[in-house]
Amino acid sequence: MTNEFSQASFQEENNGQSLGERLLSKFKKSTVSSEETTETENETNKTFKVQRKIIKKSITKPNEEENEFKILPWEKPVRIMSLMWLEQVWQCLLIEYENDMIIIDAGMEFAADEDTLWVDYIIPDISYVKKNLHKLRWILLTHWHLDHIWALRDILPELEWPTIYTTPLTLWIVKKSFQNREQMNKIKYKIVDPNIDIIKLWVFTVEFVHVNHNIPETMAMAIHTPKGLIFNTADFKVDFSPAIDKPADLSKIARIGNEWVKLYIWDSLWTASRWTPKSEKEIWENLEKTIKNINWRIILATFASNVGRIMQLINVAIKNNRVVFLAGRSMINNVEICQELWYIKVPRWMVRKLDQSVEQMPDDRVMIISTWAQWEEFSALARMSRHDHPQIQLRKWDTVMMSSSIIPWNELQTHAMMDKLVQKDINLITNSDIDIHASGHGWIEDHKLFLNLVNAEYVLPFYMTAFHRYAHKKLALDMWWEEEKIIMSNENWTVIEMYENWVKISDEKIKLNTILIDGKWQWHLSWEYVVQARKIMAHDGVLIITYKIDTNSKEIIWNIQIESRWFVYSSEVKKIHTLIVDFARSEYRKIIKWLIKKWIKPEDINVKDVLKEMKKKLETFSTEHTWRTPMVITSFVYINKTDKKD
Ligand SMILES: [Zn+2]
Repeated sequence: MTNEFSQASFQEENNGQSLGERLLSKFKKSTVSSEETTETENETNKTFKVQRKIIKKSITKPNEEENEFKILPWEKPVRIMSLMWLEQVWQCLLIEYENDMIIIDAGMEFAADEDTLWVDYIIPDISYVKKNLHKLRWILLTHWHLDHIWALRDILPELEWPTIYTTPLTLWIVKKSFQNREQMNKIKYKIVDPNIDIIKLWVFTVEFVHVNHNIPETMAMAIHTPKGLIFNTADFKVDFSPAIDKPADLSKIARIGNEWVKLYIWDSLWTASRWTPKSEKEIWENLEKTIKNINWRIILATFASNVGRIMQLINVAIKNNRVVFLAGRSMINNVEICQELWYIKVPRWMVRKLDQSVEQMPDDRVMIISTWAQWEEFSALARMSRHDHPQIQLRKWDTVMMSSSIIPWNELQTHAMMDKLVQKDINLITNSDIDIHASGHGWIEDHKLFLNLVNAEYVLPFYMTAFHRYAHKKLALDMWWEEEKIIMSNENWTVIEMYENWVKISDEKIKLNTILIDGKWQWHLSWEYVVQARKIMAHDGVLIITYKIDTNSKEIIWNIQIESRWFVYSSEVKKIHTLIVDFARSEYRKIIKWLIKKWIKPEDINVKDVLKEMKKKLETFSTEHTWRTPMVITSFVYINKTDKKD
């Protein structure tokens, strides 16, 4: 109530002019084209009038028990949904109101779980947006991590190139993700400055807020809609002494919190982590201290996307008179972009691509910064651990520093790689020896601070696993949020509806698919047979039975051909193959005999149907006799015996 009361008095003091309106007129210097702002000025007024109406209404609260009175019969909600899976850190958020739609972020996810391990990566399903393409004109990007932008190269052409609103660094990376220059030139964009810009996108007005993460230019967004204000954090943490940018703009968040946020959409990662992460400044100091005392070659491994850390490392290297060699294509690309945008200002010759010249350099002048994507067996560090890197071989006394936390589902691969590294007698330093890494995501205290400042009426822990989202719910309950104001969505593609007096999970669900990118092509997971087949083959191999069938009699002629891969061991091939072939022959004959008994003429027998049945029988037979379940493929070729005789 305090918030609503202060809102009401605030409105009176400012002659009915909301803070958003005043800000809009104040920041005329916005880098965003004034054309779009002017043409929709009336719409802006409309938005804020609606907002005023909501504030007045909330003073006389509707009866919470009677939900049906919360929605007016003609009222259309603002609809919010994720076009990706709920339980992911990657995002693609859709906000829609009648004839307008915006998308925030368009990420990809490396396929890493049981269902998707067999393809390259997963992108959002845009089929709903394509059906409503006339509504979409804008995509807003919070920051440039792959899980927030990498699907753009796949979806932008299909969405007919809506305008992207983002910061320079993010835009640069988006452009680089398009390998085709012609396509790259089609990207329409507007650069925003989170410190001053407020943009009007028809019924939506968006204000940007600088937050900390492990890369610069990361933004949260406040989205004014006709049904109230939404605050979306995207990825964030609060760092009061960051290494590469300023502390998160908490005063702006507090101001927005005072404008009455209707719905707060939360990044739920690490909400169950009870301790406070180290500041980036401390990490920097630890790196400096450690590196200063090492007299041998240093190999520093981190995510290529963690450019904040890479910038720190380059500075520490230069200070310690070491030349930086970059290993890994994505590392080289990202550093080049940071140099072009002046985020890295050291002389170019001091930062080089890793090549043979590293061997000529004295050990105490070398620092190699290497990619280490934990899920990727071809990251530069993983290759070094296997002696499989073309430019560098690890040797005794080398120091390998792993500056990133181990993601829980990558633990096995990571420990296997660490085993290989230490067997080379190198000196291995990880985050458990000394704090040389801090996560880019806020932990529990950051979440509490944000929740308190945003002070939203409804909160929506919206992405990450149920474990993290429910930890988030508990956190909100501890901070005295009412349970019915915490929206918990447990299924993918749930639609959240925001009305003037209510935020709820919609009764309708939008049917979307998981879209897999496999090499050059896109597939839908729900009907994609290939993925299932790859799984089966990887577990128990494949068994292929080929019949030669007489065209007229449909009888088997000559031998049945059998081939198997990764199904039986060499010592058992003969025995098992013979068993299977005998079974395949006798069962086929039984089926044909039975069909003829039923007065079906041989020329009317459909061999394809018979083989479908045989496939099932062979699957059961193989499993019973081997306790393995290979993928069974049955096929046939027609042989015309009569023709042959002629
Ligand atoms: Zn991120």
